[in-house]
Amino acid sequence: MRKFSNELKRIVIKVGSSSITHEGGEVNLERIWDLAWEISNLKNQGIDVVLVSSGAIAAGAKRMGFTERPKDISGKQAAASVGQVALMQTYSRAFSEFNYAVGQILVTKHIITDPVMNENARNTFNELIELNVVPIVNENDTISTYEIQFGDNDTLSALVSVAIEADLLILLSDVDGFYDRNPSDPEAIMMKEICTIDDEVRSCAGGAGTSVGTGGMVTKLNAASICMEQGIDMVLANSKDLKVLRSIVKGEDVGTLFRGE
Ligand code: ADP
Repeated sequence: MRKFSNELKRIVIKVGSSSITHEGGEVNLERIWDLAWEISNLKNQGIDVVLVSSGAIAAGAKRMGFTERPKDISGKQAAASVGQVALMQTYSRAFSEFNYAVGQILVTKHIITDPVMNENARNTFNELIELNVVPIVNENDTISTYEIQFGDNDTLSALVSVAIEADLLILLSDVDGFYDRNPSDPEAIMMKEICTIDDEVRSCAGGAGTSVGTGGMVTKLNAASICMEQGIDMVLANSKDLKVLRSIVKGEDVGTLFRGE
């Protein structure tokens, strides 16, 4: 069993596009329902949960009947605008099955750098959490394009974790954890715990493995280092079975733990 640096009272969970969409880009309803079940059950245990969800571009491209994801930035922004609505509608339906309301929060990284935005964001998060609502976060792609270009919300979820003083960030992806090299290499070995992100660790990180993924491991390591600096633990784990969330919270040894300093 693993012991986290802090007692888990408030956690941020981030799902990547590949975790909630089918291969062709359709929204994976089963995954979203399972996610809502797991998060609602954590909330029923008294744990505050904030969800950071990617997938708006893929959902929007489908809703508009595109055969593939737009490649240009403004096309992605338009798809995200349509897809965000579709995605939130699906989340809202799923969470209401378990008696929870969801709130949409669209942010940019300025919630960390701009003191007024920081205070506004914290107040909104805290109020929603106090009201037992599940905040669902995405980048505001209309005014900021960092995550759609580089990160698939990895960095954003770390910044949200810092802003709301979370105890743990869980990044769910399509790999079991962080490996010593790209796991497409059958000899790759998964690391259980990482306490420092040095050049050696960075040299193990490769790019995204699927057409819907964007950040790959580079942005996940960036997220880890933002969290670790603030004493926040981060776990990278596989979303293929969302029961992994309860296992992580129980302290079971799944995924890779990046231990906060
Ligand atoms: P998501 O969309 O879930 O955020 P990405 O596709 O952006 O995920 O990143 C996950 C992918 O990163 C994995 O499927 C894997 O192919 C790739 N990858 C590259 N290097 C590593 C590594 N060292 N450990 C684990 N995965 C790696």
